[in-house]
Amino acid sequence: MDAAHAAHRAHRIPERLAERLAPIREQAARAAVLVDFDGTLSPIVEDPAAARPLPGAGAALAELARRYARVAVVSGRPASFLLAHIGQEAVGAGVVLAGLYGLERGGDGSVEVHPDAAGWSEAVEQAAREAEAVAPTGAVVERKGLSVTLHWRAAPEAESWAVAFARSQAERTGLAVHAAKRSVELRPPVDADKGTVVAGLARGLDAACFVGDDVGDLPAFAALRRLGAEGMVTRAVAVAGPEAPPELLAAADGVVSGPEGALELLRWLAATAAT
Ligand SMILES: [Mg+2]
Repeated sequence: MDAAHAAHRAHRIPERLAERLAPIREQAARAAVLVDFDGTLSPIVEDPAAARPLPGAGAALAELARRYARVAVVSGRPASFLLAHIGQEAVGAGVVLAGLYGLERGGDGSVEVHPDAAGWSEAVEQAAREAEAVAPTGAVVERKGLSVTLHWRAAPEAESWAVAFARSQAERTGLAVHAAKRSVELRPPVDADKGTVVAGLARGLDAACFVGDDVGDLPAFAALRRLGAEGMVTRAVAVAGPEAPPELLAAADGVVSGPEGALELLRWLAATAAT
């Protein structure tokens, strides 16, 4: 066993997971490391605005970006939110920030918007305004610019309102409804999701892994499967926790425990990357 391989013990990476991910770190210079934000880099909290990455997450991403061909945070959050909280060190090292499930792309301080999504800002704004006017106590309306998310984490009884509100808005406006952990989101009906983002980021490389915790990460896992069938080395890692969707765990090549486990995995991938 070489020193790099033994490092999984120091990083508390289960041996089987370390073995599965070996082909990623062994060709780091031709590999992508792609990571979700909420529930993966940051613990899930009641107020979505208060979510922050674990201490050291930005530095770990920066370390990865110095060793791997491509490193990105792929999230449902606005790119501006990711930029504010992932930090300049990571962005300066080349970490790509893919926000709003592929509708936004940020990196060097600027944010690019998907051309098909821009025309929907008025419909989203109107839906957000109406939601704020009628949301029951405890429900949180999260404005994200080109999308709006209705959360019921702090008020479980608001779930039926949120689901019905989103459905009726979708019927009326043409916006698309997407579910996530204790929330539902209205988004432009654009052909973009974490799967299209992952396929784009992995293009031209020989290996890619993705780490995520929610149903919105399933398209990323599916994209990896398709790339794997075409000959790329791909690994899907699920972040387990009390709310982890069973279908995500079932589709994963490996599992880590909570954001702490995900961060440890990223540190290990950086520390053991082949040079
Ligand atoms: Mg997540």
